[in-house]
Amino acid sequence: MQEKKIICTVCPIGCNITVRGGGEQIKSMEGFGCKRGEAYARSEFIHPVRILTSTAKVEGCKIPLVPVRSSKPVPKELLFKCMNEIRGLYVKAPVHRYDVLIPNILETGVDIVASGTVE
Ligand code: SF4
Repeated sequence: MQEKKIICTVCPIGCNITVRGGGEQIKSMEGFGCKRGEAYARSEFIHPVRILTSTAKVEGCKIPLVPVRSSKPVPKELLFKCMNEIRGLYVKAPVHRYDVLIPNILETGVDIVASGTVE
């Protein structure tokens, strides 16, 4: 059986939650202060995801980088691969906020979008 300590980030209280189980089975969970935290810890234990933020290179302007982010959370185990895809990306200026720079990255159904504007 696996034990995972999770700090809930849903609200500023930051409850320390301990989850025990294996695979997709949760045997016990303690330390959560509310239902939202219980759901967060369950998701973190079974399949953690993260919003990815980074920067992408821009050609043809004075500011050579634009901030980017994922349109939805990405499975945690794919974060490094996604970062590598973004590292290899060169976009041409102008880039506007919410422009889709990499659609459906690694076939996750998640887009990488600009979170800033570079003229
Ligand atoms: S479990 Fe509930 S009370 Fe505790 S940090 Fe998470 S959201 Fe806040």
